[in-house]
Amino acid sequence: MNYIKLIFCFSAFLIPIFLFYSASSAHPGQTFEVNVDWLPILKSPTDSAEIVGNLKRGDKVTAFKEQAGWLQTYYQGREVWVLSKHLLPMEEQETFLIEGLLVGYTIIIDPGHGGKDPGAIGSNGVLEKDLILNSSLKIAETLRQAGANVILTREDDSFVSLKNRVLIGNKHNTSAFISIHYNAFSESYVGGFSTFYNQSGKDLAHHIQTALAAEIPLRNRGISPGSFTVLHESNFPAILLELGFITNASEVATLQTESYQEQVARAITIGLIEYFWD
Ligand SMILES: [Zn+2]
Repeated sequence: MNYIKLIFCFSAFLIPIFLFYSASSAHPGQTFEVNVDWLPILKSPTDSAEIVGNLKRGDKVTAFKEQAGWLQTYYQGREVWVLSKHLLPMEEQETFLIEGLLVGYTIIIDPGHGGKDPGAIGSNGVLEKDLILNSSLKIAETLRQAGANVILTREDDSFVSLKNRVLIGNKHNTSAFISIHYNAFSESYVGGFSTFYNQSGKDLAHHIQTALAAEIPLRNRGISPGSFTVLHESNFPAILLELGFITNASEVATLQTESYQEQVARAITIGLIEYFWD
């Protein structure tokens, strides 16, 4: 399936792991192929930097950053650079796996509302809680493919109190807590996505919002501190995502597509990898 275009990872040892991410001028998830016989992998983006490995023709690289003719990727768990002039952009259909890049991290995915609490009601009748659950299960699946230990605060249409959601986070060695919501407003033209964060979650919010902005076709409403219970009672980096307005008729149609749901799952995974690896 063309569902996650991620990274490739040949095997657990010796073999390079290359990450993907959108460079400012490249489009999201852009992957490149090496078109020279030998391409050194350097520790920093200068010709005189230490060589830490090499790539051969046909190897694939996905860039995290682009800087003055250099592309940044990851190699054996560290940030490295390669000259971009020897890389050709690849077609989108390549399928990669992000095996292992989130191993050792416990991510709490908190699907908002549920059970007797439907959340907001969309302009087409969709319930926020249902769309949230669909998104959350997909996000969890993608994060698990990257090796994360994922805990959902609800996995079905059950009611979980806000206190209990925080308690679930506190019970584990939580690396990041991500609450999933959709937004609503009385004026149907209002749209876009935003991220709210707690005291220790600003950097996490920044990475996730940036990754989302690169992937999803909605207006970027930015990040801001939030006073939601799941945020201010958490003692770990916690964010709350509002992934679009279900009260906006054209926006909700987008939100309900499979491709939007996939983009969200991929963006959150990318954002977390960037956050932890930065
Ligand atoms: Zn909500």
